[in-house]
Amino acid sequence: MRRKIIVGNWKMNHDLAETEMFLVDLKKQVFPENVEVMIAPPFTSLNHTFRSLREHPVTIVAQNMHQSIEGAFTGEISAKMLKSVGATTVIIGHSERRTYFNENSAVLAEKVNTALENEMNVIFCIGEELDDRKKDNHFQQIKSQILEGLFHLPNDAWDNVTIAYEPVWAIGTGETASAEQAQEMHQYIRKIIAENYSDKIADSILILYGGSVKPENAAEIFGQPDVDGGLIGGASLQVEDFMKIVNAFE
Ligand code: PGA
Repeated sequence: MRRKIIVGNWKMNHDLAETEMFLVDLKKQVFPENVEVMIAPPFTSLNHTFRSLREHPVTIVAQNMHQSIEGAFTGEISAKMLKSVGATTVIIGHSERRTYFNENSAVLAEKVNTALENEMNVIFCIGEELDDRKKDNHFQQIKSQILEGLFHLPNDAWDNVTIAYEPVWAIGTGETASAEQAQEMHQYIRKIIAENYSDKIADSILILYGGSVKPENAAEIFGQPDVDGGLIGGASLQVEDFMKIVNAFE
């Protein structure tokens, strides 16, 4: 049985006061035993979230990091800095980073390496554009993103990698992949990992779905055999909705 994970990706939302309001409410909640809850606040709220949740079983996640460990990179944040404020995990390759900040596969592969070398866990995001899906090119697209971002890794690195499949056309649009579409892609991802590595790695890797997951559709998506959880954007900003999604596994 694989673990279940729900990650709340706040993106560029919640200043410090809003973070505190969220945390006060979150700390009153009881999480189901089989679900690992993770929160990815903006950099400015990371340390406060970490300190505030010290006694709670919540993993602190960063939304991005630079591929170098230090140096003259104005405005950037390194793995070492993230770890020093309590983040143990980092999201790499989110489609918003790929699209708005021109992060290409080569940079993303470097970021993955730096994170793993610095003992951080990685949530690696992949996802096809609507156009790819319309042209029936979505499997190919996902395959190249995985190949270019992750297939240089040695076997033992996979213990620290989680994949998030997020079709770009479903992110923040209110349009979700159907449970069947999610299952089909997750199964495909496991298949190519098995072909390139082993059944053992393919069976144990956690694959999350992301893209307009809401309390209303979470249970159906999470009910699919190859979906191990979700990367939640908009619906993770309020504790009530977020908890409904966390509890959708029960
Ligand atoms: P969304 O975002 O849930 O708001 O669609 C998901 C994500 O981008 O991780």
